[in-house]
Amino acid sequence: MKLFKFGGASVNSVERIKNLVPIINFYKGETLTIIVSAMGKTTNALEKVAAAFFAGKKDEALSLFEQVKQQHLTITKYILVKEYNACYEALLNFFTEVEWLLYDKPVRDFDYYYDQIVCCGELLSTSIISFYLREEGIANEWVDVRDILRTDNNFRDAGIDWEWSTVKIKQRIREAAVPIVITQGFIGATDDNESTTLGREGSDYTAAVFANILDAEYVTIWKDVTGVMNADPKVFPDAQLMPELNFTEVIEMAYYGAQVIHPKTIKPLQNKGIPLLVKCFLDPTLPGTIIHEQKIKKLPPVIVIKQDQVLMHLTTNNFSFVGDEPMSELYNLFSRLKIKPNLIQTGAISVQLCFDDRAEKIGQLAAAASIFFDVQVEKNLSLLTIRHYDTKIAAKLTENKTIILQQQTPETVQYVYQNIS
Ligand code: ASP
Ligand code: MG
Repeated sequence: MKLFKFGGASVNSVERIKNLVPIINFYKGETLTIIVSAMGKTTNALEKVAAAFFAGKKDEALSLFEQVKQQHLTITKYILVKEYNACYEALLNFFTEVEWLLYDKPVRDFDYYYDQIVCCGELLSTSIISFYLREEGIANEWVDVRDILRTDNNFRDAGIDWEWSTVKIKQRIREAAVPIVITQGFIGATDDNESTTLGREGSDYTAAVFANILDAEYVTIWKDVTGVMNADPKVFPDAQLMPELNFTEVIEMAYYGAQVIHPKTIKPLQNKGIPLLVKCFLDPTLPGTIIHEQKIKKLPPVIVIKQDQVLMHLTTNNFSFVGDEPMSELYNLFSRLKIKPNLIQTGAISVQLCFDDRAEKIGQLAAAASIFFDVQVEKNLSLLTIRHYDTKIAAKLTENKTIILQQQTPETVQYVYQNIS
């Protein structure tokens, strides 16, 4: 069996949804499990709904959600005839689930509400696609992934219960009456049936988890690009396609923030030696990129830029070395607050930490760290990483930038710099 994953961009319009038909028909007769993300920018839109709700702005939340509803209903109207009523019913149920919640007052933490609201994007997209494929004569079964993928309750970055999910996923796929199953990426549920999400861009990870559990032949991630590039082509027009990569390189790229693949995707595939193909949904005949176990000889410089970074400068408040107790306290804080630094640089009595700017968490960390350290936080920064760099490219990419921190190994160089506002 093969595992396909379609991302938001591959299902963001009527044309693109229609484009799924020739791709799936190309694999006629194969057993396919198809994981789909929310359409286009739906997840971003739902994040805004969650934020408005949590800020107590009920009307704003409802009207933002209304826009999401209308977008999905419009697409449904355009592509469905026979299956329209059945699909409409299905969508209505998901809308109602969210709206009920929006009429309440927030009493739990933000991440919980985020997941209950944001998970609806994938439920809507997969429903529409499933009904559409059926209408086009492609028999398929729609599965609510929350029935078969159990997670812990670490909302917004939930961890998978592998044991439980393995049994359920195998059983559900085996029971399917037709060879094609459509289900959601990115979401899961706790044993209390609360929805969870696996971290932004988590659908790739879902595809990898399913592939691992089902021993898939390979996973294909269908994207709007021709394969994995060495830099973001929107920022670097001369970015090159890399036809072949290995798991190690991709895990490094993802770690440094490359938006190619969710960082957690590789392990489930690597553990079972399942290759990952990144292919273009606009032209399935293009070879794309293959990611597997093989050693790759020469790679171009790989460039990753992370925006919205903060740098936390910590200095021990009693002049003790950071390497002793303060450092281990700091690591305890990271795990307690579930926050991961993108870069750490230690000195004798100081530590510098670069994080994604998640204001709530940064605030909590700064407050907690102030027991051991004097804390300063610098915002509005970027983190540039170059793998397989040479001095020429490093010089070119840092030209005219105010570098405030640099870290270097023979393989990788990283710079934290100020954004010119
Ligand atoms: N829809 C989710 C997101 O936009 C998950 C995904 O696309 O993989 O982050
Ligand atoms: Mg996506």
